[in-house]
Amino acid sequence: MSEYISKEILAQKATEEYTKLQQKLSEGALSPKDRAAIPQQEMPTGEPKVRARQMSEVALGYTKEQAIVEANRCLQCKNQPCVSGCPVSVPIPQFIAHVAKGDFKKAVDTIKTTNLLPSICGRVCPQEKQCQSQCTVGKMFKDVDKSVSIGRLERFVADYERENGLETLQKVAAPTGKKVAVVGSGPAGLTVAADTRRAGHDVTVFEAFHKCGGVMVYGIPEFRLPKDIVCNEVENLKKMGVKFENNFLVGRTETLPQLLKDKGYDAAFIGTGAGLPKFMHIEGENLIGVFSANEYLTRANLMKGYDVKNAATPIYKAKKVVVCGAGNVAMDASRMALRLGAEESVVVYRRTQVEMPARKEEVEHAMQEGVQFHFLENPSRILADENGRVRAVELLSYKLGEPDASGRRRPIAIEGSEHELECDAVVVALGNGSNPLMKQTTPGLEVNKRGNITVDESAQTSIPTVYAGGDIVLGAATVILAMGEGRKAAASINKLLVN
Ligand code: FAD
Ligand code: SF4
Ligand code: SF4
Repeated sequence: MSEYISKEILAQKATEEYTKLQQKLSEGALSPKDRAAIPQQEMPTGEPKVRARQMSEVALGYTKEQAIVEANRCLQCKNQPCVSGCPVSVPIPQFIAHVAKGDFKKAVDTIKTTNLLPSICGRVCPQEKQCQSQCTVGKMFKDVDKSVSIGRLERFVADYERENGLETLQKVAAPTGKKVAVVGSGPAGLTVAADTRRAGHDVTVFEAFHKCGGVMVYGIPEFRLPKDIVCNEVENLKKMGVKFENNFLVGRTETLPQLLKDKGYDAAFIGTGAGLPKFMHIEGENLIGVFSANEYLTRANLMKGYDVKNAATPIYKAKKVVVCGAGNVAMDASRMALRLGAEESVVVYRRTQVEMPARKEEVEHAMQEGVQFHFLENPSRILADENGRVRAVELLSYKLGEPDASGRRRPIAIEGSEHELECDAVVVALGNGSNPLMKQTTPGLEVNKRGNITVDESAQTSIPTVYAGGDIVLGAATVILAMGEGRKAAASINKLLVN
């Protein structure tokens, strides 16, 4: 775990580096060696023990000086390997060159040519596995963590634009008279709405929840992605003329065939995500005090359950919460438990830290905040007290064997190693599958054996005017992949509706 450094010290160091940088630049162009010698700018964060009890954002964002110093680490590689690591091919060297010169507005405009939601992607993209994994600077140091901080720079310029009132709305073409229905308002649906509206179509987004944004609003916590940022993007779409129908569950309120035939929609996009939680199927999983991570996080995020005085949604009070799983969802749930008042929060995972699928930064933040980790252990039963409430989990110890099909070493249970870990709540964070409602209520809509909608390379489903993308097609994936799918689907819809 890396040592915590306060934002004041980081800002002071950045000022010194900035002064040195300006001096060097005044003497002439920097060589690659000079650039490699510039220290990477860390992301300032709140003090761990304080932030662990608050909902406010943990990562505080770069200052102008930090952004300019970091951007000057970029070597402007001619073959731009970083771009190949980005699912939507953001023109990375070009936007960073603008940041290096302090032209932040030009930088964000450059990003927005391919990525509509940079303030969100800059915060939640798994950059170390995507753009930054390909960065030449990281490769020079043989350490991906030393790559140019592309995501942090993306976040900085997008925040700069929003906070300084510099946002401009996308241009909308003349009305085409064609209607597009978008089912689901996650990143996939919002992207389709923006791109089809820009082409001049009459676009309505149908969303089951009372707020728009999908997992960005109900799953990813406020302390990682402030909800105001997502709401701002939705408001921008409204200003462009996109209509939103909330509390509208397609398949129950009205079915997709009804929208297409009776309401005259010419094309539809399904972006309903992967909202069906997976469980462990072990004894005790239906006890009072056991939650899916989805329910736990939705109560806290969407229904503001943490605001005990004002929220109508009850939160289950627990002193010690055990979270099962090791992905981003598990990190969010374990950190949320502390913010909901738990004295202890424990992550239980049957492999080791090396195999954890969660983003490294999220794991570090959880550790700094005091989340405990029990590696090489997995629940075999959940145990009840006399009132049917959780009192403990029974854990089995594990050891690692040979790598399995996923390339990770296979966990092997150690016979007779059962032991108890006392707790009063258990959160199951093992991932999500697809909700079968759209399939059940849309005759002719084909899905694969996992229940994901099948599409061709143009994102078209088995129904010619219906397209799909995001988690409902890919299985639980990422925000940027959902956006990428949305862009592809919108291009196909726009092509279809030209005729
Ligand atoms: P979603 O975001 O799931 O949106 C689907 C929307 O459709 C929802 O609003 C839902 O209410 C609505 N809907 C569903 N059915 C219907 C219906 N029948 N009628 C009307 N509306 C309907 N990804 C990252 O890149 N980085 C992260 O750090 C990250 N952290 C995550 C943390 C958590 C807790 C979770 C759960 C996921 C995380 N992800 C992360 C994954 C990412 O959020 C998803 O991959 C992404 O949101 C998928 O986008 P989507 O548009 O396909 O669907
Ligand atoms: Fe990297 Fe994500 Fe930005 Fe692409 S969108 S450049 S992957 S942070
Ligand atoms: Fe800059 Fe790294 Fe991309 Fe090269 S690979 S252009 S150093 S961000």
